[in-house]
Amino acid sequence: LEGGVGLAVAARCRLWKHVIQKGDTVMDATCGNGNDTLAMTNMVKDEQSKGCVYGMDIQEDAIKNTSSLLDVSLNPIERKCVKLFPICHSRMAEVLPKHSSVRLVAFNLGYLPGGNKTIITKSDTTKLALKAAKELLVPGGVISIVAYVGHPGGREEYETVQSFCLGITHRKLGVEPDSDVKQTFSTCPYWKTVKAWFTAETCSVKR
Ligand code: SAM
Repeated sequence: LEGGVGLAVAARCRLWKHVIQKGDTVMDATCGNGNDTLAMTNMVKDEQSKGCVYGMDIQEDAIKNTSSLLDVSLNPIERKCVKLFPICHSRMAEVLPKHSSVRLVAFNLGYLPGGNKTIITKSDTTKLALKAAKELLVPGGVISIVAYVGHPGGREEYETVQSFCLGITHRKLGVEPDSDVKQTFSTCPYWKTVKAWFTAETCSVKR
């Protein structure tokens, strides 16, 4: 989605806004350059500073990029809402305080845009992370997943994600894409994927 990153984030945000409330705890399982982490922080931050975002990425560079973006975009109180960890997302349960649960876990799979394209999310750890995410969700919480098939291993990972989704209780959010999203993506080859974000591929798990 090169060149369309801002809009792609905007599209995901529209879905997340249906689920996230001020003061919630949420997770970004793949921080990358921090765009999703920032968007989530803006949704959970509240006056009582209860909202909290746990972010993780396997690459130190990604954690640094995310941290820099947050530093310039948030005030010091808001910045404290976000805790970043340079770990594999299969270990996400370790970073959350005991007995806590989260409203949203977001996965934006693949490689770090502008970084090393050989360091990518992999089917086996993605599967473990998805299982971990399911255990951490509050009832009615959402796992949001964006998977890409264009890079080596991407198709296999996409199929892993699909079979995970088929194995859990989920509902369609049924959110219509904004007209600007429709207009921008309708002629691009990713349109089907973008449209899917708004329907089946965001899963709400009931425990
Ligand atoms: N959400 C990001 C943003 O808004 O900029 C983009 C994420 S990027 C498409 C995918 C990220 O997943 C990369 O930064 C990569 O380092 C990270 N990643 C790869 N394997 C991982 C793993 N096992 N655990 C956590 N992050 C991983």
